[in-house]
Amino acid sequence: MDTESSMAPSTTTRSRALATEAVHAGRDDLAALGLHAPPIDLSTTYPSYDSRGEAERIDTFAATGARLEGPPVYARLDNPTTGRFETALARLEGTESAVSFASGMAALTAVLLVRASMGLRHVVAVRPLYGCSDHLLGAGLLGTEVTWTDPAGIAEAIRPDTGLVMVETPANPTLAEVDIRAIAHSCGSVPLLVDNTFATPVLQRPVEHGARIVLHSATKYLGGHGDVMGGVVACDEEFAARLRQVRFATGGVLHPMAGYLLLRGLATLPVRVRAASASAAELSRRLTADPRIARVHYPKLGGAMVSFEVYGDPHRVISAVRLITPAVSLGSVDTLIQHPASISHRIVDEGDRQASGVGDRLLRMSVGLEDVEDLWADLCQALSSQEAGRQEVLRQEVSGRPARTAAANGPELRPTVR
Ligand SMILES: *Cc1c(COP(=O)(O)O)cnc(C)c1O
Repeated sequence: MDTESSMAPSTTTRSRALATEAVHAGRDDLAALGLHAPPIDLSTTYPSYDSRGEAERIDTFAATGARLEGPPVYARLDNPTTGRFETALARLEGTESAVSFASGMAALTAVLLVRASMGLRHVVAVRPLYGCSDHLLGAGLLGTEVTWTDPAGIAEAIRPDTGLVMVETPANPTLAEVDIRAIAHSCGSVPLLVDNTFATPVLQRPVEHGARIVLHSATKYLGGHGDVMGGVVACDEEFAARLRQVRFATGGVLHPMAGYLLLRGLATLPVRVRAASASAAELSRRLTADPRIARVHYPKLGGAMVSFEVYGDPHRVISAVRLITPAVSLGSVDTLIQHPASISHRIVDEGDRQASGVGDRLLRMSVGLEDVEDLWADLCQALSSQEAGRQEVLRQEVSGRPARTAAANGPELRPTVR
C-alpha cells in the first residue's frame, strides 16, 4: 500500500515541483520494497484466515468509505496498483484524494450518483461539454435533471436540490474557457466540478481556483498513448469516500493493468503536454494566418488542442490527412483530427450543438509529438484538398498514390461513435 496517506501540504518540508511529482508520486515506497518499477497486482481476491477481522474491515468501509488498511478484501473495493495512480494524480491536482474508474463516463456517473443519493438530483451545467457528458446530463438517465446556463446565470439557476455545478474549461470541442474562480464564487456551497481533461494539471489545477471536484477522462492525456481507458476524480477525502462506496456498489472499477499504464503515463505528462502545446500554439498561429481557414479556436491557457473552422468541406480535410490520423479521442502521442458534428458531439441534439458553437465546419485536432513542420505539411495538403476538392482527388489517382478518395474513405463509411 502507499505510504503517503497524509496529503496535506507540509509547511516544514519543501513541496516538490509538478515535474518531480509526476515521476515520484505513488512510488515513494518502492525503494524500501526493493523495487524500481511499480508492481502490478492482478488479484481479484485476497486471502484472510480471520473472518471476524474481515467483517470489521468491511463494516468500516461501509460506514466510512475510507481506503482499507492492509490488503483489499476484493478487487472491486480497492487495488494497490490503481491506488498508486490515484495517489499520484491527487498529488498532481493538489487534492487530498483521487478515485479512479473504468472510464471518464464511469467517473462522471459516480459523481452524479453520489449527489443524487443525497437527494440532490439537480445539476447546473455550462455548454459545451464533451458530447457524452452532455447526453448523460440531458437524458436524465441517472435520475438527474439539468439546467443549462451560461456562466453569468449560474447563481440564479441554483435550487435547493442542486447537487453539482459542472463546467469544462477549455471545453470540448470549441476550447471555450471560463473563469473558474468567478464560477466557484457563484456556486456558493454547491460543489463545482471542473472537467480538466483538456488542460491537465500541467496547465491548470482547478482546486487552486475554488473547484471542489476535478474530473478527467484518463483515456486522453493522462494515459497519453491511446492504449488505455480510464477515468479519475480528484477531490477532498470526504467526497472521495462517497465515491469509493458508489464505485464498490456499481462496479465501474479501473483495471490494475490500466492503473499501471496510467501511472506510467503520468511520469511523462509534463513533458508531453509542454512539447505538444508548443506545436499546437505554432499550428494555431499558422492556421490563423491561412486564408483557407475561417476561424481558429486556441485557448488563452494554451494546450495541445486546436479547433478550426474551414470555408470548404470539412469532410474532405478528414479524408485527405496522411500523417495525422482521422480518429476520435485525443491526448495521444500522435496527432488526431475529427469532425465533432459527425462524431464526438453527434449524440448532442443538432440545435443544442449549433447553439454552443459546435458548427458543421468545425474540426478538432489533438496535436501530438510529431515534428511541427511535418504536421503543417500534412495539414496544408489536406486543406488544399478541401479547396480543390474533386481535382485533388483526381490528381492523387493520376500520380498513382494509394486511392484515398472521399468515396472510399468518407465519413459515411466509418462507424459513428455515439
Ligand atoms: C473523452 C472525454 C470524456 C469521457 O471520457 P471516456 O474516458 O471516453 O469515458 C469526458 N470529458 C472529456 C472532456 C472528454 O474529452
